[in-house]
Amino acid sequence: MRFSFTRLDTYRRCPFQYKLRYHEHVPGQPRPGTRLAVALHAALAAFYRDSAAMPYPDDLLGAFDAQWPAELTERDVRAMEEGRALLVDYFRRQGDQWPKVRFVEEPFRLELGRHTLVGTLDRVDELPDGTLQIVDYKTARTPPRAPDTFQLDVYQIGLAAKAGELAARIVFEYLRHGTQYVVEVDDRNIARTLDRLSAVLAAVEGDDTLAPRAGEHCRQCDYAAYCPARTARPLPIPVAAPEGQLALGL
Ligand code: SF4
Repeated sequence: MRFSFTRLDTYRRCPFQYKLRYHEHVPGQPRPGTRLAVALHAALAAFYRDSAAMPYPDDLLGAFDAQWPAELTERDVRAMEEGRALLVDYFRRQGDQWPKVRFVEEPFRLELGRHTLVGTLDRVDELPDGTLQIVDYKTARTPPRAPDTFQLDVYQIGLAAKAGELAARIVFEYLRHGTQYVVEVDDRNIARTLDRLSAVLAAVEGDDTLAPRAGEHCRQCDYAAYCPARTARPLPIPVAAPEGQLALGL
């Protein structure tokens, strides 16, 4: 089976939500910020792919503007204004400290027994001492918080599949908040990281019930109407849609 971080994380949050999304292919609600998030990621990728020794803000803004169609809705115009302001702030915060970039939007794929782990690393830099740093852009409005160690493991294994080593630092770049959350990695043992990841894969595979796991996350769940843990009379689960209708996630 093919897994991504998003897919595994959905299972860890709630197996029933995972079942509806990935087994029954029930589409979730479109998110209004998705278009801006995609444009910001694409602009930063284009900017760092072509980055000059001394970049200019217009390089970044031009890359951002190129992500939008000629015909814009009012919501697009607002999103573009917001995105441009975020990128100007991002550029300013770099000062003259531009990274030595090793990978940009780098896809990875790793065979783990019967399973395949896939994903994309937003950016990987080489630090002055030769070690590597993963950078992950965050575009959500939710406040910065300590990252889930499982997310770190998935990124690390993805990097190991590309570069044969784990990163010494992982930086979560919160674009809407103008701040970073930096994790200095002490345990850079590939085998132990793989063991932790494999334990999650085994849990997904061995779960025959995929029962609801209610919690704080229920407030943002697209599937509450079908969920016996949230409503006394859940709606019947819709007939499965083709895989291609899933808008996001793997
Ligand atoms: S409402 Fe809560 S328990 Fe039910 S599927 Fe959603 S996240 Fe899971």
